Amino acid sequence: MQELTHFINGEHVKGTSGRFADVMNPATGEVQAKVPLANKAEMDIAVAAAQAAQPAWAAVNPQRRARVLMKFVDLLNRDMDKLAEALSREHGKTFPDAKGDIQRGLEVAEYCIAAPQMLKGEYTDAAGPGIDIYSMRQALGVTAGITPFNFPAMIPMWMFAPAIACGNAFILKPSERDPSVPLMLAELLEEAGLPKGIIQVVNGDKEAVDAILFDPIIQSVGFVGSTPIAEYIYGTGCAQGKRVQCFGGAKNHMIIMPDADLDQAADALVGAGYGAAGERCMAISVAVPVGEETADKLRDKLIPRIEKLKIAPYTAGDDVDYGPVVTKAAQENILRLVQTGVDQGADLVVDGRDFSLQGYEDGFFVGPHLFDNVTKDMDIYKTEIFGPVLSMVRAQSYEEALGLAMDHEYGNGTAIYTRDGDTARDFASRINVGMVGVNVPIPVPLAYHTFGGWKKSAFGDLNQHGPDSFKFYTRTKTVTSRWPSGIKEGGEFHFKQMD
Ligand code: NAD
Repeated sequence: MQELTHFINGEHVKGTSGRFADVMNPATGEVQAKVPLANKAEMDIAVAAAQAAQPAWAAVNPQRRARVLMKFVDLLNRDMDKLAEALSREHGKTFPDAKGDIQRGLEVAEYCIAAPQMLKGEYTDAAGPGIDIYSMRQALGVTAGITPFNFPAMIPMWMFAPAIACGNAFILKPSERDPSVPLMLAELLEEAGLPKGIIQVVNGDKEAVDAILFDPIIQSVGFVGSTPIAEYIYGTGCAQGKRVQCFGGAKNHMIIMPDADLDQAADALVGAGYGAAGERCMAISVAVPVGEETADKLRDKLIPRIEKLKIAPYTAGDDVDYGPVVTKAAQENILRLVQTGVDQGADLVVDGRDFSLQGYEDGFFVGPHLFDNVTKDMDIYKTEIFGPVLSMVRAQSYEEALGLAMDHEYGNGTAIYTRDGDTARDFASRINVGMVGVNVPIPVPLAYHTFGGWKKSAFGDLNQHGPDSFKFYTRTKTVTSRWPSGIKEGGEFHFKQMD
């Protein structure tokens, strides 16, 4: 049985806490590795190494820091297949989807090559007699991030690429479900020339997270995961005086207007609802057709598309639509919620409960489900299912559909399908959700924009990647200066060449 390690101060280090978690192969249901769960003493070692290494890294000029990321991007491209294979094996997502996971993170690293430009401060010449004012952005010091299982490459890169580009040291506590790719990413950063101690991976669970939250040296904490844990980390981290950004769960609505191209909308819903087995925070889990006729037509178009989906392990080929969910517990939870939908009176028009795959009976596969006539009070509407389950909630008007998405406690992503510019514009303007798609089902912004939800989907002021990330990982210092020669009466201010 493979025993995974931590990556501390440039070395693979065995766990010493004596506690381990199983890393599963979700396609077969077998344990394929054990990951160590760090205790506070192990976290302390990583923090001390980060603290020792960080000042020298912050003193490296930003262009040289950016060059390390340039090299890292090359190495990601070199090892793309190897990384995607490791990712699919632990997560269960298809091979092309695993490559997409790496690619979207790689694009954040590419964006952070702009560090010299992004870190430039501001200057006001002659703000008063002989007075100049300037501001600079300085690294925070030791920073940390806690990431979920569903994007084990992209989400760590959302955090560590800007953190490192800004001159911080970064400690990653990845998900214990799929820790191999984060470890591989740390190795590649060192191969790219990052000094020891600047990126470290400390595996673990709540104990390691608490060690981060209560460590006085760690200046900032980034978190992506479920809302209850996001709330805990935000509250605890802020109370410890840290800078914290936390991203939580989602229930993303897609509104389908009567004038929409319904074939396009149905294709989009199937990809966005069932891709990655619904384990995406930007998955569409609620379809809101406007008008009974739209709903009936949409349902007729969805059913054959859903019934055609190919559900199999990633090894079955690139035409697999989605693979298993991550754990047995996730599989059971999804099926439990499906049962509540049936019990509470929703129409289960595609029933995936009996799905089983020959040769993979112990894998964590879940067949696709489509519910119609779902109402606001049902558990399947209120709860994030995080599985291949799409709920149709019929609305009689645009205002009713908009109100549904507005009233839901989550506000991560949403989409509208329409040919009418006025409706699309009104929707984008009024909706209280952070990321909006107009005829785009999964509106994940690219690396140079920022990513973030509203309401119970995000806590904190600044979004992930894009310009916000350079703000999150730096502090602004503003200097107001007056030189004696500048205030002499009748004197002249001689601006000298810098040595
Ligand atoms: P999770 O909340 O179970 O775990 C996330 C991280 O928190 C992991 O590293 C885990 O080890 C740690 N953790 C778990 N329990 C903890 C506890 N009690 N105390 C401290 N730390 C704890 O989430 P997950 O199942 O890995 O990921 C799925 C969730 O993440 C979904 O809710 C999904 O919507 C959300 N997500 C959100 C975004 C976003 O940008 N909003 C992106 C991806 C995933």
